[in-house]
Amino acid sequence: MRKIAIYGKGGIGKSTTTQNTAAALAHFYGQKVFIHGCDPKADSTRLILGGKTQMTLMDMLREQGAEKVTNDKVIRKGFAGIQCVESGGPEPGVGCAGRGVITAIDLMERNKAYTDDLDFVFFDVLGDVVCGGFAMPIRDGKAQEVYIVVSGEMMAVYAANNICKGLVKYAKQSGVRLGGVICNSRKVDREREFIDEFTAAIGTHMIHFVPRDNIVQKAEFNKKTVTEYDETQQQAKEYGELGHKIIENKNFVIPRPLTMDQLESMVVKYGLSD
Ligand code: ADP
Ligand code: MG
Repeated sequence: MRKIAIYGKGGIGKSTTTQNTAAALAHFYGQKVFIHGCDPKADSTRLILGGKTQMTLMDMLREQGAEKVTNDKVIRKGFAGIQCVESGGPEPGVGCAGRGVITAIDLMERNKAYTDDLDFVFFDVLGDVVCGGFAMPIRDGKAQEVYIVVSGEMMAVYAANNICKGLVKYAKQSGVRLGGVICNSRKVDREREFIDEFTAAIGTHMIHFVPRDNIVQKAEFNKKTVTEYDETQQQAKEYGELGHKIIENKNFVIPRPLTMDQLESMVVKYGLSD
């Protein structure tokens, strides 16, 4: 079983990419996949489940207490047998959302939810926060592999570089490694070139360039991944290719994040500072 955490700036496409890749892995490659949504928004699994989970793990905990939170109450099966759980979050304005991530993963481990027959567990983690509970999947070795979702936009690359700084901090103690950077295209000029240069500079690789395609929204509108909505679409093949590259991946590193000056000069070179 490979445990993978997906990081990246908010809105960059983590949940979309995670679910679409998971769907392709399960449907095209027969992989057994579990998605653990770690965003208080609890929207990490809706495309797999055909709608949003009504009860999150934290809801259930508050309502029934830890002992009563059994796997069958919080784990739901969706497209291609993919198992899904949403951590959820604290009541708005009360408590720490990061804490919820810790609680949820601990509980799933105690309940032996990540079973040995699984090929992949994906943790879809909120935003670019590499502090407190949100660092949990990489800090305590809950995940061994990290993929960062970026685009050719400046803020997405800044966030990716910061996530790498967090990774470096925990890599030695937890053994977590960066498996690569996924470019989720925003159709920025010279995007591929920029991300190739950035990834080479930090000592990793761009594992796949995922095109921007409206079919993603169309499928999303129907509460589906592209693979479930129409597996003949080129975009479904792209997610399949990304999934296949993850299966085959041997490139695991402790990244070397750039200094602000290095990053600034790269950004200036690509004309992104305008
Ligand atoms: P995050 O989980 O990182 O906050 P989301 O996965 O929710 O971001 O993505 C935000 C929106 O971007 C989604 O609603 C989706 O419609 C859109 N999106 C993501 N990736 C693509 C893509 N490759 N092509 C088209 N739209 C995309
Ligand atoms: Mg998300």
